[in-house]
Amino acid sequence: MRQMAGAISVVVPVFNEAASLRTFHERLSSALLSLDRRVEILYIDDGSTDGTRDALNALRALDPRVGVASFSRNFGKEAAMTAGLHLARGEAVILIDADLQDPPALIPEMIRTWEEGADVVTMRRRSRAGESWLKTFSAYAFYRVFNMLSDTAMPPDVGDFRLLSRRVVDAINRLPERNRFMKGLFAWVGFKVVTIDYDRDARNQGHTKWGFRKLWRFAVEGIVGFSTVPLKMATYVGLTCAVASFVYAVYFLAKTALFGEPIHGFPTLIISILILGGLQLMAIGILGEYVSRLFIESKARPLYLIEEFRPAVSSPPLWVA
Ligand code: UDP
Ligand code: MG
Repeated sequence: MRQMAGAISVVVPVFNEAASLRTFHERLSSALLSLDRRVEILYIDDGSTDGTRDALNALRALDPRVGVASFSRNFGKEAAMTAGLHLARGEAVILIDADLQDPPALIPEMIRTWEEGADVVTMRRRSRAGESWLKTFSAYAFYRVFNMLSDTAMPPDVGDFRLLSRRVVDAINRLPERNRFMKGLFAWVGFKVVTIDYDRDARNQGHTKWGFRKLWRFAVEGIVGFSTVPLKMATYVGLTCAVASFVYAVYFLAKTALFGEPIHGFPTLIISILILGGLQLMAIGILGEYVSRLFIESKARPLYLIEEFRPAVSSPPLWVA
């Protein structure tokens, strides 16, 4: 009997993408056509409210390769990707966005690279069509700051669009933390990474789900989850201030003892109170970020809740021996 080449899972997180779903599925299908492999396409419906779920179930009725998992509410893209990695059974797993910003046409090339021995095939954006300069700039700044602060090196301009081999998926599935900053987790596990450059398209339909607030939270999540440098920074800034204050106090006492002190110096007073107060609040805020992460981890709530899971019809119960 001919040995069947390992099956591929394509994991697609979707949140309110009803408008572009059909086009996406067609483009994905035609990209997968050339492959001599079994495929499952896992759509993770992240609590959509626009009919995406019905559209997905309709797709599944037409295409036996399609599996659909629907969350009980919106848990966010990181949770959706986590669920996809838990459910996927392929020998390799491809993560791709549903808005056609990640061109499905590149999938055969990713698979070839994996066949040549890569464990992780990351896709680097050469350009970011249709994204505001603010987003481009903040992404740039975020990668630079992250890499300055964290021991885990994260290559810039590499998104979630990637292929992961089975052993990498298993490694990620073993990570217990609630803080699912996936880009960081991907970088943390290591293994043999090969990068392919591509041009990122503008969104096909609809609009991005990432407002500035969400991006800011995401950046804080990433940095706090992968670096303790902010905590140490608070210590050193505090220490520097304490030493400076002590020196100033000695000088001040000496001056008062020698020359007396007519009442003045209000500016010095108010400035030092404000600066110290500000620094203290900032340090407490940084502590708070870490303590709140500890709090969340200690509750050990599930990362997502699946309301309904319909696996792909075509997939046998276990692909991977
Ligand atoms: N997405 C998701 N849950 C969310 C937000 C987004 O599953 O809470 C999906 C979305 O449907 C898309 C992908 O994640 O398939 C990327 O989202 P988006 O295009 O909004 O992000 P951007 O490309 O702007 O980073
Ligand atoms: Mg997008």
